[in-house]
Amino acid sequence: MKLNLNIEPLSNWAPVSNGPLIISGPCSAETEEQLLATARLLKQTGKVHVLRAGIWKPRTRPGEFEGIGAVGLEWLNKAKAETGFPIAVEVANAKHVEEALAAKVDILWIGARSTVNPFTVQEIADALKGVDIPVMVKNPINPDLSLWIGALERINGAGITKIAAIHRGFSSFEKTAFRNEPMWDLAINLKTLLPELPILNDPSHICGSRELIPFISQKALDLDMQGLMIEAHIDPTVAWTDAKQQVTPAALSEIIDGFILRKAESKNPEFTDKLAGLREKIDKIDDQIFQKLAERMKVVEQIGEFKRDNDVTILQVSRWDEILQKRVSYGSVLNLDKDFSAKILELIHNESIRRQTAIMNSAKADLG
Ligand code: PEP
Ligand code: MN
Repeated sequence: MKLNLNIEPLSNWAPVSNGPLIISGPCSAETEEQLLATARLLKQTGKVHVLRAGIWKPRTRPGEFEGIGAVGLEWLNKAKAETGFPIAVEVANAKHVEEALAAKVDILWIGARSTVNPFTVQEIADALKGVDIPVMVKNPINPDLSLWIGALERINGAGITKIAAIHRGFSSFEKTAFRNEPMWDLAINLKTLLPELPILNDPSHICGSRELIPFISQKALDLDMQGLMIEAHIDPTVAWTDAKQQVTPAALSEIIDGFILRKAESKNPEFTDKLAGLREKIDKIDDQIFQKLAERMKVVEQIGEFKRDNDVTILQVSRWDEILQKRVSYGSVLNLDKDFSAKILELIHNESIRRQTAIMNSAKADLG
């Protein structure tokens, strides 16, 4: 299924050449000096295209620093005048949009805490009617692809065609090394539904700590995301917000130098021939896997009939445990990841149970 949105390519509105679009700047504009000093150093790297700064900060708890407010727009414009960077801010209501537009901000983005709320997104969309400005939509805090798509649709519905998504990870009950779980499959699903939508990655909010940023950035580039938003601060250790995940402009420059830029495809005939050959092999193996799965299901059904005719329950936990243990350790001998093997077996087992349940509920074979 493909969705139908009217979306312009990134190159229509962002200063990109052949590499990824790099948006950087502090999590929050704190003081004029902090913002200008950071912007100057980012400019010196020669690797940044757009300056970002949060001036209205949605905070989890009241009493935390809630952003410097509209005065930050003046500082951003000073930074723009000095460095030539287009400037980007987060907007979370109609008033923010009006103030940002009045201050001639170049790019707006909608934050994760706003994308979760269709009322908020619609208010922003209504304030944007008739305006031609690029809008980037971060994924919602919770892993709900429809909410993300809904927000993109609302903004597009207001006539905004310069539109991009930002993948910043999702809140998860499970605690891992990441502040927000990447859940890459959601971003990949979005790309499948909207192939023309530019998707950027925000490794800063995924990682929550600067050490992991190079790894997540590279992964995003390898998944063909078109840009990165990375928070940078003149002195991250004293940042008023998100101190652990911000990097200095010099560190950002090193991170960018470390990127390996891979192409989405190669026109080299030797490469395409070899790739076609390997894909053919994969297709054959997939055929075999499916034939074997179908064979297995036939045997499962025979067992189902046999259990039904002898009044034996479908599930025998000890048998299932045995399959799981034997196959997972066999899998590891074959160099298959244990989690992967267990997940596949579980899928197969669930389908087997479903089929056997259907058989149980059908009439017994005539034993007479
Ligand atoms: C931010 O970009 O500083 C921000 C608040 O991000 P998010 O909306 O992704 O939490
Ligand atoms: Mn931040």
